[in-house]
Amino acid sequence: MQTIDNYNFSGKKAIVRVDFNVPLNKETFEVTDDTRIRGALPTIHKILNDGGSAIIMSHLGRPKEGPEKKFSLHHVISKLEEHLPGVTVKFADDCIGEKTLDQKKSLAQGEILLLENLRFYKEETKGDPDFASKLADGVDCYVNDAFGTAHRAHASTTIIAQYFDAGNKMFGFLINKELIAMDTVLNKSQNPFTAIMGGAKVSDKIQVIENLLPRIDNLIIGGGMTYTFIKAQGGKIGNSLCEEDKLDLALKILKKADKNKVKVYIPTDAVNADKFDAEANTNISKTKETPDGWMGLDIGPDTMNTFTEVIKNSRTILWNGPMGVFEMEKFAVGTSTVAKALSEATSNGAYTLIGGGDSVAAINKNGLADKVSYVSTGGGAMLEYMEGKELPGIKAIRE
Ligand code: AMP
Repeated sequence: MQTIDNYNFSGKKAIVRVDFNVPLNKETFEVTDDTRIRGALPTIHKILNDGGSAIIMSHLGRPKEGPEKKFSLHHVISKLEEHLPGVTVKFADDCIGEKTLDQKKSLAQGEILLLENLRFYKEETKGDPDFASKLADGVDCYVNDAFGTAHRAHASTTIIAQYFDAGNKMFGFLINKELIAMDTVLNKSQNPFTAIMGGAKVSDKIQVIENLLPRIDNLIIGGGMTYTFIKAQGGKIGNSLCEEDKLDLALKILKKADKNKVKVYIPTDAVNADKFDAEANTNISKTKETPDGWMGLDIGPDTMNTFTEVIKNSRTILWNGPMGVFEMEKFAVGTSTVAKALSEATSNGAYTLIGGGDSVAAINKNGLADKVSYVSTGGGAMLEYMEGKELPGIKAIRE
């Protein structure tokens, strides 16, 4: 397999799939969070510094029927230029076609050509081979650096790879970092290894949990999914979130954990609310004795202490999903406590990987993103990888 470190881009034109699906201000269309743009910079720098040129492609938002101004990648140019002083960023107002092919051909060393939104064509998400071959036209090599879409067999993330031989297709630095982080956790973990699964539903996380059980020592459960476990064990859960059709599944997980000698930590106490509201009245109770008319929206103080202890004594930690409704201040303490415990564990030498949209938001909210080992950029892609699935975008480069 080719690697970006070993590849010399001098005199070469590289087509690079990045994830510039960035949030924009609704009126001015300015980029409001450039994390994803910054994530692609090491790969772009390497190509340009070697003396190559980069043709950059991405999707942005979910356009329905062809081009829509609000989803134009043109809005991203100024932010990209800000990060690449002195570099010429040209724009192609179509991602395929004769004019774009001419622009690719006339691109000079050290220059960038940003292509218009791939999803202005339905062929992109359909994985159309003809469309993918047009994207591949006029370039020497393909670099995939869009981890967030690596679980999709789209034209630009997967199908395009077939038009390049093994020596001319590779992952970019961002995907490499993601793969190293996930492999560290899945295949090179040090014990004790603790997985923390939170968020709303068991059904979303079940496959990840099943794939992790043979590898982990501790499983910490938090968030809304707590109550499916509590009810399955005969507890009283009031109005708390519960997936009635997953009670058997919860018991099956507990049995499987026991078989694998995994210690499962389910919250023992909770902060309850009398309604799902930021201003709700609150009380604290045991999770299995939630009063009628109340719902558990955060883990309670005893649980926080137990979880903190387990986390601090772990050598490898994977965290996905908040411990409570952390979007509301009154129910954010449990999630913040876990975030802080993770940062402490990291400073004591543990390897900590945080993934999934909401836990990433939680770690950022607590200002701790640079105090953990790795924060994954791809929510869905990371979860599928953790489920043990082979992601099409990864396979396309590896085979
Ligand atoms: P997920 O996308 O599955 O990781 O779920 C994240 C969502 O779960 C967040 O929006 C939280 O507000 C929500 N959540 C966490 N804990 C609870 C809870 N105890 N009850 C209801 N929703 C919760």
